[in-house]
Amino acid sequence: MTNPLLYPKGSTVLLLGNEAIARGAIESAIGFAAAYPGTPSTEIIEALASVAKDVGFYVEWSTNEKVAFEAAYAAALCGVKSLVAMKHVGVNVAADILMSSAYAGVNAGFVVVSADDPGQHSSQNEQDNRWYGMLAHIPVIEPWSPRSAYKLIKEAFKLSEKYKHPVIFRSTTRISHTRQPVTYEDDIPKPKTKGVFDRDIKRYVLIPIHGRKLKKILMEKWHKISSEEGKPPLVEVINPGRPKAIIASGIAYAHVTEALDYLGAKDDYTILRVSLPVPLPYKPVIDVAKDAKEILVVEELDPIVEYQVKKIIQEQGLEAKVYGKEYVPTDLDLDLEKVYKAIKMFRGETPETPWKPVEVPKVEPGIPPRPPVLCPGCPHRNTFYIIKTAANKAGLKDPIYTGDIGCYTLGYNEPFKTQMTSFEMGGSIGVAHGLSKVVDEPVIAVIGDSTFYHAGIPPAINIVYNKGRAIVLVLDNYYTAMTGHQPHPGTGYTAMGEETYRVPAEKLLESMGFKTFVINPMNVKESIEKVVEAYKAYKEGEYVAIVSRMKCALQAQREARKKGIKLPAYGINEDKCRGCMVCVNLLACPAIIVPEGKKKPVILTDLCAGCGLCAQVCPFNAIEVVREGSPDWIKAWM
Ligand code: SF4
Ligand code: SF4
Repeated sequence: MTNPLLYPKGSTVLLLGNEAIARGAIESAIGFAAAYPGTPSTEIIEALASVAKDVGFYVEWSTNEKVAFEAAYAAALCGVKSLVAMKHVGVNVAADILMSSAYAGVNAGFVVVSADDPGQHSSQNEQDNRWYGMLAHIPVIEPWSPRSAYKLIKEAFKLSEKYKHPVIFRSTTRISHTRQPVTYEDDIPKPKTKGVFDRDIKRYVLIPIHGRKLKKILMEKWHKISSEEGKPPLVEVINPGRPKAIIASGIAYAHVTEALDYLGAKDDYTILRVSLPVPLPYKPVIDVAKDAKEILVVEELDPIVEYQVKKIIQEQGLEAKVYGKEYVPTDLDLDLEKVYKAIKMFRGETPETPWKPVEVPKVEPGIPPRPPVLCPGCPHRNTFYIIKTAANKAGLKDPIYTGDIGCYTLGYNEPFKTQMTSFEMGGSIGVAHGLSKVVDEPVIAVIGDSTFYHAGIPPAINIVYNKGRAIVLVLDNYYTAMTGHQPHPGTGYTAMGEETYRVPAEKLLESMGFKTFVINPMNVKESIEKVVEAYKAYKEGEYVAIVSRMKCALQAQREARKKGIKLPAYGINEDKCRGCMVCVNLLACPAIIVPEGKKKPVILTDLCAGCGLCAQVCPFNAIEVVREGSPDWIKAWM
């Protein structure tokens, strides 16, 4: 069956916002795309990779956002249209090259997709990346729906080509992860994938003497964009000439139109729909402010458009009074209710909604609140149990566990408590090093495999170079699991499905000077012994790294299903069980439950992934195989 992303012009397809961005990029004839996975941006590259060979462009998962940016930017310098995608915090990682790219410009369309996460649905903060546009002098385009994302990504490429300048395309979770029917406006062109590198050192070697001249060119471009780009589809004035106006940027525009529908007030206001919030084109703002005495700016998160509107009005000596964040919240994502209330206040009315809060029917018996837990069979559970047991055995007193970004962050919870910090990608190792210099307790940095390749290598080198005393523990489950099992340098294949060299984490660590211990946490006893050995080496003053390698349980089960392999399942022999609750209290596997009113646990066989951890932990050998696996079941986990 043909991939819907390849359907011809005129087809209407129900697309996820991220898929709509991908199709728009394909219609723009991209020849190169790169990214590091991160919610809510991941599906853009997944969608592009799914058709890359059919269309004939190149796609990669790079080791981090900075590397992805550099690779895609280099292609754009050579005249190949390129896209780089990342989640909002990924832009922090790529910020160095982002800033410089504005000075050097591009020679073909180059779009940086930043998928922001207002509401922090899966992120450590909700930074508003439109600031990066202001900071770097790179225009920002933001859509208000998946359909507009499809159209506007093409405008982003056009703008980039017109000014030979990078363009930031800012999506948000609610756009990236919403579906909407999209009608394809264009067929898929043949992309250009080869280019020429023009050795223009005055442009590409950013020494001060070159940089100062380039800054002047940059500011000229910036002024030109703000004065000339205030036209549809980037900016549109609706109902001109009204005495009151609403300026809405990005997804806020969708909420404003819906709220005005409810109020029956669609024709009462001039609406300025802004999809180019940075730099905000000043002509349409002046046009609106000449007639409107009062203006409400509605935008998600920070008052970036509001500041610019106020500046333009002040510079022009206009009298319009501008309202914004006094009515529109600065935190979390906007919704219809918040925007409706803001408009009511702008109208001088009480901020009440005509609809009543939705009554959620009470579920009987009540569902107990439960913190998010690791999946049944998750290798991190095994590793956490092993490292804690080994610490007790080796007399490693009160270790401090620094953590990182990945599924294993859930280790902060009971019963493991093996994540005591989690700030940013790779932060576990750098923070562990700093702690080890100032505290007496042993410090263990816990980092996932993909995160280690992403940002864990320089801080690991730093430990050895600067004589730190932190242990590095790499949790290698073969994939970037949290974002949907994308491959990474330790997986063995690329984004386009080609087999490739594997870069084993232990080889890297060994080369830095770490004494490295590799364990398979499926074998609990053997692993504990090895980790005890590792802790002893650490106590003797060695630099120690542990690589715990076992496939992600979801992927093991998926592969078993695909290959027709039956995995075993475990059950509790009631006669042997003494009800000690060791399996329940130390492992927190969702497949092991204690039925209400009972004193002994049971295993939900359908949930059990067959990892065998509980059977190895039970002190009374009460946990047994109740469903035999195929003879080769272990292969699914390797
Ligand atoms: S660890 Fe073994 S004996 Fe203890 S509750 Fe679990 S199954 Fe029963
Ligand atoms: S074997 Fe035990 S620990 Fe592993 S998934 Fe099944 S119930 Fe959970």
